[in-house]
Amino acid sequence: PPPATATTHTRALEVLRSVFGYDAFRGDQAEIISTVIDGGDALVLMPTGGGKSLCYQVPALVRPGVGVVVSPLIALMQDQVDALSALGVRAGFLNSTQMPHERRAVEDAFVDGTLDLLYLAPERLRVPETLALLDRGQVSLFAIDEAHCVSQWGHDFRPDYLQLSVLHERWPDVPRVALTATATETTHAEIARRLQLEDARHFVASFDRPNIQYRIAAKNNPKAQLLDLLRTEHPGDAGIVYCLSRKSVEQTAEYLVAQGIPALPYHAGLGAQVRAANQSRFLREDGLVMVATIAFGMGIDKPDVRFVAHLDLPKSVEGYYQETGRAGRDGTPATAWLAYGLADVVQQRRMIDTSEGDAAHRRKLSAHLDAMLGLCETVECRRVQLLAYFGQESAACGNCDTCLNAPKTWDGTVAAQKFLSTVVRLERDRGQRYGAGHLVDILLGKETPRVTQLGHTTLSTFGIGSDLSDGEWRGVVRQLLARGLLGVDSEGYGTLELTESSAEVLSGARLVMLRREAPKAAKAARTPRS
Ligand code: ADP
Ligand code: ZN
Repeated sequence: PPPATATTHTRALEVLRSVFGYDAFRGDQAEIISTVIDGGDALVLMPTGGGKSLCYQVPALVRPGVGVVVSPLIALMQDQVDALSALGVRAGFLNSTQMPHERRAVEDAFVDGTLDLLYLAPERLRVPETLALLDRGQVSLFAIDEAHCVSQWGHDFRPDYLQLSVLHERWPDVPRVALTATATETTHAEIARRLQLEDARHFVASFDRPNIQYRIAAKNNPKAQLLDLLRTEHPGDAGIVYCLSRKSVEQTAEYLVAQGIPALPYHAGLGAQVRAANQSRFLREDGLVMVATIAFGMGIDKPDVRFVAHLDLPKSVEGYYQETGRAGRDGTPATAWLAYGLADVVQQRRMIDTSEGDAAHRRKLSAHLDAMLGLCETVECRRVQLLAYFGQESAACGNCDTCLNAPKTWDGTVAAQKFLSTVVRLERDRGQRYGAGHLVDILLGKETPRVTQLGHTTLSTFGIGSDLSDGEWRGVVRQLLARGLLGVDSEGYGTLELTESSAEVLSGARLVMLRREAPKAAKAARTPRS
């Protein structure tokens, strides 16, 4: 390497050793850090736990001036600053939670150059005073953390991120490094375009997290399934359980506590103090289970999270990848477990139909959900599918449920036709729509009060589905919904209707290969161990 680079590298290594106490850089860190120290821009895609922070912290300590870090993680800024202070790094932050005098002290330190790193919430850059402040000091670099937040296509869009192009326009000579742990090729390109990083060096690490075992189980009794997972595979382990609603967060946390498992709730409806207290207990104490909505977790640096469990379907593969990525940052085995069922699909489709925003927005949400459903229903290696979503090729992993226990498929064309024709008969002949439970009752020939009252015993499809069990039928319906061969009504009642593709199945033009439902998941989870 040319002498300048050698010096740069030596200085970086010296900081790594003397300040952070590590021996060597990992992966692309050395290259990224040298690029930034030498004044170049970098776009870094690296999985959680890959070591992104050092990619801007080391250059900030080597280059003259203050490194400015834009981060949406306001709740973590104090922790980050404390952690750096403990290493002797002079750090401060500016966000909306501060008192004016606290803010002034940080601003003065910035101008005086007595800071190494300044963390900024993105909305601060909307304030002209902040821009003026940055002019009064010397900025060594800009780091844009969680850079995927600039993407409107992604799942975590923050409008304030759009303004970050101002950094390059106003301070063209200051190097920038943008970092994210999740980006599809589309999102990657969008980050580069919106942040004007097309000419930057792009560093794309493998997104694979080999120590995480991915498992997606059929949901039947989610709380009991979760308890079984925790008791048989993760006794005493720290982990995160994600639920969709605040109510189910509360109920699940209470349930676990009642079962003797130390669990804490976390959701946006809890007061800021409770949230902060629960978060800090989770970080500091051993073996706590955090039951949370997705409001929890971004930027959480706890190395020994042994499992991440989802009791509800994530809205996108990016979200799933990011949430599961919080497991096993220390590199030792961890479990990503998701329970998923028919009701999840109905609920999510319904939420999209009734969501705010225009048709384009709803199309985006649908595309995200469809990709997630594809991952759930695949009979191929989960990891191959997951990485393919991020544009990365890989071979079957041997460490996911489909690799360990190959799912069987069966020809469900006739079953699909029976179900869809029941929907057709009710809709076309009687102008009626129903949810999955009632339709399955009809196919099973169950004379429930509702079936009898509505006169549905006279339908020609009544009782023609008794070759399958109730659970198998729900599996059929779920898979039809997941593939768009069946739809959920757009009024938000959760009743089922045909889609454009349903006709292909009914006419016999389309074969429907289905995934065979695993036997009761609670038992299945226990077998691999013993
Ligand atoms: P990310 O932000 O990419 O999720 P972090 O920057 O938080 O990852 O780093 C993950 C963990 O790895 C941290 O505990 C960090 O101190 C550690 N780490 C990062 N780089 C190195 C390195 N070169 N050597 C040893 N440990 C490292
Ligand atoms: Zn696999």
